[in-house]
Amino acid sequence: MSETIFSKIIRKEIPADIVFENEHVLAFKDINPKAPVHVLIIPKVEIPTITNINGKEHSELLGQLFDAANSIAKEMGVDSEGFRLVINCGKNGGQEVYHLHMHLLGGRPMNWPPG
Ligand code: 5GP
Repeated sequence: MSETIFSKIIRKEIPADIVFENEHVLAFKDINPKAPVHVLIIPKVEIPTITNINGKEHSELLGQLFDAANSIAKEMGVDSEGFRLVINCGKNGGQEVYHLHMHLLGGRPMNWPPG
């Protein structure tokens, strides 16, 4: 699968409001936020979607994504009230960008079930 706009954000070829970065993970504010806090947390390596994840190969990276989510939630002040992590997968999951990403949504109560 070809690269997405997120690869350009990783390479800093297009601007993004970056809130977290380390060697393997990048996080930036969603361009079309659905909550007061809406951050996208992505691996720097290109993994299109959840079905491309291999536990053996990616377990450390997945841990780093969750560590980043916890750091960002704390930094953005939504850790105590709570927040939601969402990963959309494929057509029925509502995925638009095929570079694995976790949505961190917070700053308001979330509805359940999601639409
Ligand atoms: P998906 O539907 O694939 O789970 O979510 C993709 C998300 O990426 C959407 O919430 C959309 O607003 C966000 N997005 C798409 N293009 C860009 C962009 O160029 N910059 C930023 N910051 N977010 C983007």
